Amino acid sequence: MTKLLDKIKKAELRGKGGASYPVYLKWEKVAKARSRKKFVICNASEGEPDVMKDEYIIEHHPEKLIEGMKLCMKEVSSDKAFLFINQDYYKKYSKRLKGLIRDDNIELFKKPHPAGYIAGEESSLINTIAGERAEPELKPPFPSTKGLYGAPTIVNNVETFYDVSLLNSNQFNNTRLYSITGDCVWSGVYEFADDETIEDILKNTNNYPSFEFFVQIGGGACGEVLNSDQLNRPVTGSGSITIYSKSKHKPVSVLKNWIDFFMNESCGKCTPCREGTYRLHEILKDKQPDWYMFFAILADLPETSFCALGKSVSIPVISYFQNVLKDDTKFSSIYNINKQ
Ligand code: SF4
Repeated sequence: MTKLLDKIKKAELRGKGGASYPVYLKWEKVAKARSRKKFVICNASEGEPDVMKDEYIIEHHPEKLIEGMKLCMKEVSSDKAFLFINQDYYKKYSKRLKGLIRDDNIELFKKPHPAGYIAGEESSLINTIAGERAEPELKPPFPSTKGLYGAPTIVNNVETFYDVSLLNSNQFNNTRLYSITGDCVWSGVYEFADDETIEDILKNTNNYPSFEFFVQIGGGACGEVLNSDQLNRPVTGSGSITIYSKSKHKPVSVLKNWIDFFMNESCGKCTPCREGTYRLHEILKDKQPDWYMFFAILADLPETSFCALGKSVSIPVISYFQNVLKDDTKFSSIYNINKQ
């Protein structure tokens, strides 16, 4: 094991794109793979709503990001890398990034679709770079075994490469970046310890609300929902905290926003997600929603969807009912009667 890989292992560094997979396991697998071609991809698509930490790094520390990618290429013996970047960030930062990249071994790849979460899923992103439809693939095989053009491929998030470059120069302090948005005064990106509690993060940034609220944490619309008395725990996933005022956001509109996000992001490849999210959207449009059908579809989606997008639909909705709407007589009885 090389010195850098050993440092990554000892620091227990995990990917910051949402899945929290140990970095050294992925890198070691590709480093050991016997293949003439290997690829490194940095995912800078940042398609989840309310997550903006990658943009913060691209804007303020692009040299660390590029350094992290170069370190990875060296570590796994790859001579070609792609920085997969969304159109908005490309417009704002491509000139500076190209200046830092200088050589041709790292290609700035502009995401062809304007926005969108699913094109940032790793197998879908690989398909996009290869010129194919932005659709997820069945896993295994994982990209570390069979990725871009069938070769072993590292796909990591911007913050992961940033962390590696900090580790390499002994500047990594077990911190991570948190995106805070929603009903707060000081929305933005903040750095705190990896295990900082949600409550402390909100208090230390002067964002702890004085009104009744709940939060959604981890990964934009896909994240878990917690009540204000459940904040003594760290943030998971992509590190986002979205604050919702209870009086400002009515339950059905909150549910509609999440369901519409999933419906619009569904790539249409599999029937449960394509049809299921559309049906959930239609049910919520009714003055008298069919809650039995709503919860039946929700229960099926994690079991039958092809990729993480469809599997995640129930996470915000069920945790919202269980953790927040439990105190609302109408919605708690809807949940207790219809839960599957
Ligand atoms: S779960 Fe949704 S996003 Fe994923 S493959 Fe199926 S249709 Fe596409």
